[in-house]
Amino acid sequence: MSNLSYIDDSNGAWQTYLAQVDRVAPYLDHLEEYIDTLKRPKRALIVDVPIVMDDGSIRHFEGYRVQHNLSRGPGKGGIRYHPDVDLNEVMGLSAWMTIKTAVMNLPFGGAKGGVRVDPRTLSARELERLTRRYTSEISHIIGPQKDIPAPDVGTNPRVMGWIMDTYSSGQGHTVMGVVTGKPIHLGGSLGRVKATGRGVFITGQQVAEKIQLPLKDAKVAVQGFGNVGSEAAYLFADAQSKIVAIQDHTGTVHNPEGMDVEALKLHLEQHQGVAGFAGAKEISNDEFWLVDMDILIPAALEGQITPERAQNLTAKLVLEGANGPTYPAAEDILLERGVTIVPDVICNAGGVTVSYFEWVQGMANFFWSEEEVNQRLDALMIKAIHDVWQTAEDKVCSLRTAAYILACDRILKARQDRGIFPG
Ligand code: NAD
Repeated sequence: MSNLSYIDDSNGAWQTYLAQVDRVAPYLDHLEEYIDTLKRPKRALIVDVPIVMDDGSIRHFEGYRVQHNLSRGPGKGGIRYHPDVDLNEVMGLSAWMTIKTAVMNLPFGGAKGGVRVDPRTLSARELERLTRRYTSEISHIIGPQKDIPAPDVGTNPRVMGWIMDTYSSGQGHTVMGVVTGKPIHLGGSLGRVKATGRGVFITGQQVAEKIQLPLKDAKVAVQGFGNVGSEAAYLFADAQSKIVAIQDHTGTVHNPEGMDVEALKLHLEQHQGVAGFAGAKEISNDEFWLVDMDILIPAALEGQITPERAQNLTAKLVLEGANGPTYPAAEDILLERGVTIVPDVICNAGGVTVSYFEWVQGMANFFWSEEEVNQRLDALMIKAIHDVWQTAEDKVCSLRTAAYILACDRILKARQDRGIFPG
């Protein structure tokens, strides 16, 4: 439960994160004395983002940047444009970044940002003005050695390019390292766009082998068909799994024989959503959760797997492409039912890992081939998931708690050794 005056005790991302931290506490030995440092963000900035709309009117949007923990290095985390963004959500997402960078042993802390806006309702010019004003408002706390944003839901490489340009204008010179996920011709890394979906597949492949679930003919259901969900689906289809159901913001499509993902890709280019895809039947959004499936990939938003949905889910393996898709009470039901959950903090860490590679390549001004990026990504993800699996076996706990044990040990040792200023 939160004891911060500016957060109410609702059922949001921050509360889910706090419940996860409480579960790891008994495993931390003497480091537990520092655990309060994880239960509050180091810094939370709320900004007003006024912009002139194309019709000459002025609208104000609410923006945030939260730096949850910087004990292990600069803040790292995406920027979300979505109408439901609020402080509670951004705090939860920033905290998961702290855990994620630590599980992957990347030299970063955790941060996240967001603007409460539906980007689909803005013109390209309005979106650019919003991005530039938001960047200007948070520019005093971001920077290549302070806090490095990246894309998340509703933002993309183009938005990252505007952030880089706006920040650079303020500094008087080009600062490539202030954001990752940039377009390739502006210092982006090859392999970054597909990295999160690739990481979902790699961790899924490793764990499927451990639980003896063959990927060939495995029935896979995917919620969210954006950056993360679509790439994960393509890779599972390549491995001869059957993509039996997909849900996005336009609806849900189902084909028990598996969908032709190439045809679906073409449909999406024309229709901006899965609804109406000829190679599958449309079902209701509620029916998605009851489909016969072996693997579920939630890759949309948090809070999707509720206790009611968990009760009836047929999946044997859940791969958390999204951040925070599973409520703690739903996780208990799934674990009780023998379902394996690969938690977000490792499952979707491919994106931040290649963001780290982008930051490193930018610092060195020396860029790698896509093959090299993918090889390094696969190696780090395979090592991390095996470490998490081993810890879960040693401590007899869930994969999520095991990931938190590894991460919290690294974060709290850093906190212990840095001490408290001024002492
Ligand atoms: P995106 O904007 O590219 O795609 C989001 C997808 O979710 C879209 O297909 C959209 O239609 C769908 N969606 C939105 N609302 C929905 C709803 N109510 N029901 C069903 N579907 C809905 O975003 P993304 O980058 O793919 O991110 C998806 C998730 O993965 C988020 O939780 C994000 O935090 C997480 N994530 C993303 C990255 C990354 O590198 N992009 C990295 C780590 C984690």
